[in-house]
Amino acid sequence: METPVTSIPIPAILEIGNGTVFSLERILKQHGFVNAVFLFDDFTYQTYLEDILESISSTKITTVLLPPDLDIQDLIKTAFEMERFDVVIAMGGGTVIDYGKYIAFSRQSPFLSIPTSASNDGFASSNCSLVVNKKKTTVPARVPYGIIADLEIIQHVPDRFILAGIGDLMSNITALYDWEFEEKNGVTRVNHFAYMLSKKAVNSFIRTPMTDIKNQLFLKELISSLTLGGISTVISGNSSPISGSEHLISHALDKISMQPQMHGIQVGIATYIMANIQNHRAERMNKIFMRTGFFDYVKGLGLKKEEYRRAIEMAPRIKSNRYTFLHEESYRNSALQFLDEDDILHDIFN
Ligand SMILES: [Zn+2]
Repeated sequence: METPVTSIPIPAILEIGNGTVFSLERILKQHGFVNAVFLFDDFTYQTYLEDILESISSTKITTVLLPPDLDIQDLIKTAFEMERFDVVIAMGGGTVIDYGKYIAFSRQSPFLSIPTSASNDGFASSNCSLVVNKKKTTVPARVPYGIIADLEIIQHVPDRFILAGIGDLMSNITALYDWEFEEKNGVTRVNHFAYMLSKKAVNSFIRTPMTDIKNQLFLKELISSLTLGGISTVISGNSSPISGSEHLISHALDKISMQPQMHGIQVGIATYIMANIQNHRAERMNKIFMRTGFFDYVKGLGLKKEEYRRAIEMAPRIKSNRYTFLHEESYRNSALQFLDEDDILHDIFN
Protein backbone atom coordinates (compact mmCIF):
# COMPACT_ATOMS: atom_id res chain seq x y z
CA MET A 1 0.00 0.00 0.00
CA GLU A 2 1.25 3.44 -0.84
CA THR A 3 1.72 5.78 2.10
CA PRO A 4 0.04 9.09 1.30
CA VAL A 5 1.88 12.38 1.35
CA THR A 6 0.74 14.08 4.53
CA SER A 7 0.08 17.70 5.29
CA ILE A 8 1.40 18.87 8.60
CA PRO A 9 0.31 22.03 10.44
CA ILE A 10 3.26 24.26 11.28
CA PRO A 11 3.31 27.71 12.90
CA ALA A 12 2.54 30.56 10.50
CA ILE A 13 4.48 32.99 12.68
CA LEU A 14 7.94 32.33 14.06
CA GLU A 15 9.79 35.33 15.46
CA ILE A 16 12.81 34.79 17.66
CA GLY A 17 14.76 37.93 18.41
CA ASN A 18 15.34 41.01 20.48
CA GLY A 19 12.24 42.93 21.55
CA THR A 20 9.88 40.78 19.48
CA VAL A 21 6.99 41.26 21.95
CA PHE A 22 6.90 44.84 20.86
CA SER A 23 6.26 43.79 17.27
CA LEU A 24 2.80 42.49 18.16
CA GLU A 25 1.10 45.47 16.56
CA ARG A 26 2.63 44.57 13.19
CA ILE A 27 2.20 40.82 13.61
CA LEU A 28 -1.48 41.03 14.56
CA LYS A 29 -2.15 43.41 11.68
CA GLN A 30 -0.35 41.24 9.13
CA HIS A 31 -2.47 38.27 10.09
CA GLY A 32 -5.73 40.16 10.22
CA PHE A 33 -6.41 39.71 13.94
CA VAL A 34 -8.62 42.51 15.24
CA ASN A 35 -9.93 41.09 18.50
CA ALA A 36 -7.52 39.28 20.81
CA VAL A 37 -7.74 37.65 24.22
CA PHE A 38 -4.38 38.15 25.93
CA LEU A 39 -3.57 35.82 28.85
CA PHE A 40 -0.92 36.64 31.43
CA ASP A 41 0.51 34.95 34.48
CA ASP A 42 1.36 36.88 37.60
CA PHE A 43 4.89 37.72 36.51
CA THR A 44 4.11 38.87 32.98
CA TYR A 45 1.03 40.77 34.17
CA GLN A 46 3.09 42.77 36.66
CA THR A 47 6.10 43.23 34.42
CA TYR A 48 4.97 43.60 30.81
CA LEU A 49 1.24 44.26 30.59
CA GLU A 50 1.42 48.04 30.52
CA ASP A 51 4.25 48.38 27.99
CA ILE A 52 2.75 45.82 25.67
CA LEU A 53 -0.71 47.36 25.71
CA GLU A 54 0.82 50.72 24.96
CA SER A 55 2.51 49.28 21.88
CA ILE A 56 -0.71 47.91 20.36
CA SER A 57 -3.30 50.30 18.98
CA SER A 58 -5.18 48.67 16.13
CA THR A 59 -6.31 45.44 17.77
CA LYS A 60 -8.90 45.19 20.52
CA ILE A 61 -7.22 43.43 23.45
CA THR A 62 -9.01 41.80 26.35
CA THR A 63 -6.47 41.03 29.07
CA VAL A 64 -6.94 38.13 31.48
CA LEU A 65 -4.74 37.26 34.46
CA LEU A 66 -4.91 33.52 35.07
CA PRO A 67 -4.04 31.94 38.44
CA PRO A 68 -1.63 28.98 38.32
CA ASP A 69 -3.97 26.38 39.83
CA LEU A 70 -6.68 25.86 37.19
CA ASP A 71 -7.79 22.41 36.08
CA ILE A 72 -9.25 21.40 32.74
CA GLN A 73 -12.84 22.09 33.84
CA ASP A 74 -11.94 25.63 34.90
CA LEU A 75 -10.26 26.19 31.54
CA ILE A 76 -13.24 25.00 29.51
CA LYS A 77 -15.51 27.20 31.61
CA THR A 78 -13.18 30.19 31.15
CA ALA A 79 -12.94 29.55 27.41
CA PHE A 80 -16.69 29.54 26.85
CA GLU A 81 -17.38 32.52 29.09
CA MET A 82 -15.21 34.68 26.87
CA GLU A 83 -16.81 36.97 24.33
CA ARG A 84 -16.01 36.49 20.66
CA PHE A 85 -12.36 36.81 19.74
CA ASP A 86 -10.26 35.80 16.77
CA VAL A 87 -6.97 34.90 18.46
CA VAL A 88 -5.72 33.80 21.88
CA ILE A 89 -2.32 35.07 23.00
CA ALA A 90 -0.58 33.73 26.10
CA MET A 91 2.58 35.21 27.57
CA GLY A 92 4.50 33.68 30.45
CA GLY A 93 5.81 30.41 31.81
CA GLY A 94 4.77 26.90 30.79
CA THR A 95 1.53 26.92 32.77
CA VAL A 96 -0.12 29.94 31.17
CA ILE A 97 1.11 28.83 27.73
CA ASP A 98 -0.62 25.47 28.27
CA TYR A 99 -3.79 27.24 29.45
CA GLY A 100 -3.79 29.44 26.36
CA LYS A 101 -3.15 26.51 24.06
CA TYR A 102 -6.10 24.65 25.50
CA ILE A 103 -8.48 27.62 25.59
CA ALA A 104 -7.66 28.36 21.94
CA PHE A 105 -8.08 24.68 21.07
CA SER A 106 -11.50 24.43 22.72
CA ARG A 107 -12.70 27.56 20.93
CA GLN A 108 -11.12 26.46 17.61
CA SER A 109 -9.13 29.65 17.49
CA PRO A 110 -5.51 30.37 16.52
CA PHE A 111 -3.02 30.56 19.38
CA LEU A 112 0.03 32.78 19.76
CA SER A 113 2.62 31.49 22.18
CA ILE A 114 4.94 34.00 23.88
CA PRO A 115 7.21 32.03 26.23
CA THR A 116 9.21 33.99 28.78
CA SER A 117 11.58 31.12 29.36
CA ALA A 118 13.07 28.32 27.29
CA SER A 119 12.69 25.73 30.05
CA ASN A 120 10.98 23.04 27.93
CA ASP A 121 9.50 22.43 24.48
CA GLY A 122 5.89 23.05 25.54
CA PHE A 123 5.69 26.48 23.90
CA ALA A 124 5.97 24.85 20.47
CA SER A 125 4.27 21.50 20.94
CA SER A 126 0.73 20.39 20.14
CA ASN A 127 0.09 18.88 23.58
CA CYS A 128 -0.47 20.55 26.88
CA SER A 129 -0.01 19.38 30.41
CA LEU A 130 -3.19 20.02 32.43
CA VAL A 131 -4.72 18.88 35.69
CA VAL A 132 -7.51 16.40 34.98
CA ASN A 133 -9.27 14.82 37.98
CA LYS A 134 -6.50 16.16 40.24
CA LYS A 135 -3.78 14.48 38.15
CA LYS A 136 -1.26 16.08 35.80
CA THR A 137 -2.19 14.72 32.38
CA THR A 138 -0.96 15.24 28.84
CA VAL A 139 -3.89 16.53 26.81
CA PRO A 140 -3.89 16.87 23.03
CA ALA A 141 -4.38 20.34 21.56
CA ARG A 142 -2.95 21.96 18.45
CA VAL A 143 0.42 23.32 17.44
CA PRO A 144 0.55 27.11 18.00
CA TYR A 145 -0.36 29.38 15.08
CA GLY A 146 2.50 31.59 16.13
CA ILE A 147 5.59 31.49 18.35
CA ILE A 148 7.08 34.77 19.44
CA ALA A 149 10.21 34.45 21.57
CA ASP A 150 11.80 37.59 22.91
CA LEU A 151 15.47 36.90 23.64
CA GLU A 152 15.80 39.97 25.79
CA ILE A 153 13.20 38.60 28.19
CA ILE A 154 14.40 34.99 28.06
CA GLN A 155 17.98 36.12 28.66
CA HIS A 156 17.07 37.69 31.97
CA VAL A 157 15.33 34.79 33.68
CA PRO A 158 17.38 32.81 36.24
CA ASP A 159 19.87 30.27 34.82
CA ARG A 160 17.89 27.27 35.99
CA PHE A 161 15.19 27.93 33.38
CA ILE A 162 17.77 27.80 30.59
CA LEU A 163 19.43 24.69 32.08
CA ALA A 164 16.04 23.00 32.17
CA GLY A 165 15.58 23.77 28.47
CA ILE A 166 18.97 22.21 27.76
CA GLY A 167 17.93 19.09 29.69
CA ASP A 168 14.68 18.78 27.76
CA LEU A 169 16.42 19.25 24.41
CA MET A 170 19.25 16.78 25.10
CA SER A 171 16.61 14.14 25.77
CA ASN A 172 15.93 14.01 22.01
CA ILE A 173 19.06 11.86 21.79
CA THR A 174 17.96 9.17 24.24
CA ALA A 175 14.34 9.37 23.09
CA LEU A 176 15.30 8.71 19.46
CA TYR A 177 17.44 5.76 20.50
CA ASP A 178 14.51 4.35 22.47
CA TRP A 179 12.27 4.85 19.46
CA GLU A 180 14.62 2.82 17.25
CA PHE A 181 14.82 0.16 19.96
CA GLU A 182 11.05 0.02 20.05
CA GLU A 183 10.91 -0.47 16.29
CA LYS A 184 13.53 -3.22 16.43
CA ASN A 185 11.31 -4.97 18.95
CA GLY A 186 8.36 -4.76 16.60
CA VAL A 187 6.31 -2.47 18.82
CA THR A 188 6.16 0.60 16.62
CA ARG A 189 7.29 2.11 13.34
CA VAL A 190 9.61 5.09 13.38
CA ASN A 191 8.46 8.07 11.32
CA HIS A 192 11.65 8.96 9.52
CA PHE A 193 10.88 12.58 8.87
CA ALA A 194 10.04 13.26 12.52
CA TYR A 195 13.14 11.33 13.52
CA MET A 196 15.35 13.40 11.24
CA LEU A 197 13.91 16.70 12.41
CA SER A 198 14.35 15.90 16.10
CA LYS A 199 17.89 14.64 15.53
CA LYS A 200 18.97 17.62 13.43
CA ALA A 201 17.51 19.93 16.05
CA VAL A 202 19.59 18.57 18.91
CA ASN A 203 22.72 18.11 16.79
CA SER A 204 22.66 21.69 15.62
CA PHE A 205 22.36 22.83 19.23
CA ILE A 206 25.27 20.66 20.32
CA ARG A 207 27.58 22.45 17.90
CA THR A 208 26.86 25.88 19.40
CA PRO A 209 29.55 27.44 21.61
CA MET A 210 28.48 26.97 25.23
CA THR A 211 30.72 29.24 27.24
CA ASP A 212 27.85 31.60 28.04
CA ILE A 213 24.31 30.23 28.29
CA LYS A 214 22.91 33.77 28.33
CA ASN A 215 24.47 34.58 25.00
CA GLN A 216 21.74 35.44 22.51
CA LEU A 217 23.08 33.21 19.75
CA PHE A 218 23.09 30.31 22.16
CA LEU A 219 19.54 31.05 23.32
CA LYS A 220 18.30 31.43 19.77
CA GLU A 221 19.76 28.03 18.94
CA LEU A 222 18.18 26.49 22.05
CA ILE A 223 14.75 27.93 21.26
CA SER A 224 14.78 27.02 17.58
CA SER A 225 15.88 23.48 18.39
CA LEU A 226 13.14 23.09 21.01
CA THR A 227 10.69 24.43 18.44
CA LEU A 228 11.76 21.87 15.83
CA GLY A 229 11.43 19.14 18.45
CA GLY A 230 7.87 20.30 19.16
CA ILE A 231 7.03 20.21 15.44
CA SER A 232 8.52 16.73 15.06
CA THR A 233 5.79 15.40 17.41
CA VAL A 234 3.12 16.85 15.13
CA ILE A 235 4.61 14.88 12.24
CA SER A 236 4.84 11.58 14.12
CA GLY A 237 1.48 12.06 15.80
CA ASN A 238 2.99 11.10 19.15
CA SER A 239 5.68 12.34 21.50
CA SER A 240 8.20 9.57 20.68
CA PRO A 241 10.73 11.76 18.79
CA ILE A 242 11.35 13.83 21.93
CA SER A 243 10.21 11.60 24.76
CA GLY A 244 11.50 8.16 25.71
CA SER A 245 12.67 6.34 28.83
CA GLU A 246 14.17 9.53 30.29
CA HIS A 247 10.76 11.18 30.22
CA LEU A 248 9.21 8.13 31.89
CA ILE A 249 11.64 8.61 34.79
CA SER A 250 10.66 12.26 35.05
CA HIS A 251 6.92 11.49 34.92
CA ALA A 252 7.45 8.91 37.68
CA LEU A 253 9.34 11.49 39.76
CA ASP A 254 6.40 13.90 39.38
CA LYS A 255 4.27 11.28 41.08
CA ILE A 256 6.59 10.14 43.86
CA SER A 257 9.05 12.91 44.61
CA MET A 258 8.66 14.93 47.80
CA GLN A 259 9.94 17.90 45.87
CA PRO A 260 9.58 17.51 42.11
CA GLN A 261 11.97 19.70 40.12
CA MET A 262 11.35 21.49 36.84
CA HIS A 263 10.49 19.12 34.00
CA GLY A 264 13.67 19.82 32.03
CA ILE A 265 15.89 19.42 35.09
CA GLN A 266 14.54 15.95 35.93
CA VAL A 267 14.58 14.99 32.26
CA GLY A 268 18.19 16.17 31.93
CA ILE A 269 19.43 13.98 34.78
CA ALA A 270 17.42 11.02 33.48
CA THR A 271 18.87 11.65 30.01
CA TYR A 272 22.38 11.44 31.40
CA ILE A 273 21.49 8.14 33.08
CA MET A 274 19.84 6.67 29.99
CA ALA A 275 22.60 7.72 27.58
CA ASN A 276 24.95 5.64 29.72
CA ILE A 277 22.57 2.68 29.84
CA GLN A 278 21.99 2.82 26.09
CA ASN A 279 25.72 3.26 25.72
CA HIS A 280 25.05 5.87 23.06
CA ARG A 281 26.62 9.36 22.93
CA ALA A 282 27.08 9.36 26.70
CA GLU A 283 30.39 11.18 26.53
CA ARG A 284 28.91 14.00 24.49
CA MET A 285 26.09 14.29 26.99
CA ASN A 286 28.58 14.50 29.80
CA LYS A 287 30.46 17.36 28.12
CA ILE A 288 27.33 19.41 27.46
CA PHE A 289 26.04 19.08 31.01
CA MET A 290 29.48 19.90 32.34
CA ARG A 291 30.10 22.93 30.12
CA THR A 292 26.70 24.53 30.53
CA GLY A 293 26.81 24.27 34.33
CA PHE A 294 23.88 21.84 34.41
CA PHE A 295 25.67 19.37 36.68
CA ASP A 296 26.86 22.14 39.03
CA TYR A 297 23.32 23.42 39.36
CA VAL A 298 21.72 20.05 40.10
CA LYS A 299 24.36 19.23 42.70
CA GLY A 300 22.88 21.92 44.92
CA LEU A 301 19.30 20.64 44.79
CA GLY A 302 19.47 17.91 47.43
CA LEU A 303 18.07 15.29 45.04
CA LYS A 304 17.33 11.87 46.50
CA LYS A 305 18.86 8.75 44.98
CA GLU A 306 16.05 6.65 46.47
CA GLU A 307 13.47 8.60 44.47
CA TYR A 308 15.39 8.01 41.22
CA ARG A 309 15.64 4.34 42.10
CA ARG A 310 11.88 4.08 42.53
CA ALA A 311 11.26 6.14 39.39
CA ILE A 312 13.39 3.77 37.30
CA GLU A 313 11.48 0.80 38.66
CA MET A 314 8.18 2.50 37.97
CA ALA A 315 9.08 3.78 34.48
CA PRO A 316 7.70 0.93 32.32
CA ARG A 317 4.31 1.18 34.02
CA ILE A 318 4.04 4.90 33.24
CA LYS A 319 3.49 4.01 29.59
CA SER A 320 2.91 0.30 29.30
CA ASN A 321 2.14 0.54 25.57
CA ARG A 322 5.70 1.64 24.82
CA TYR A 323 8.87 -0.44 24.69
CA THR A 324 11.86 1.65 25.74
CA PHE A 325 15.14 0.35 27.17
CA LEU A 326 13.60 0.61 30.62
CA HIS A 327 10.85 -1.79 29.63
CA GLU A 328 13.50 -4.54 29.74
CA GLU A 329 14.52 -5.80 33.15
CA SER A 330 18.21 -6.13 32.33
CA TYR A 331 18.48 -2.45 31.35
CA ARG A 332 16.48 -1.42 34.39
CA ASN A 333 18.98 -3.28 36.53
CA SER A 334 21.92 -1.62 34.78
CA ALA A 335 20.29 1.75 35.41
CA LEU A 336 19.93 0.95 39.11
CA GLN A 337 23.53 -0.17 39.26
CA PHE A 338 24.64 3.01 37.48
CA LEU A 339 22.87 5.05 40.18
CA ASP A 340 25.10 3.38 42.75
CA GLU A 341 28.38 3.41 40.85
CA ASP A 342 28.63 6.57 38.75
CA ASP A 343 30.87 9.30 40.17
CA ILE A 344 28.90 12.23 38.81
CA LEU A 345 25.63 10.88 40.20
CA HIS A 346 27.42 10.28 43.48
CA ASP A 347 28.15 14.02 43.66
CA ILE A 348 24.61 14.91 42.61
CA PHE A 349 22.88 12.72 45.17
CA ASN A 350 25.65 12.93 47.79
ZN1 LIG B 1 10.00 17.20 27.77
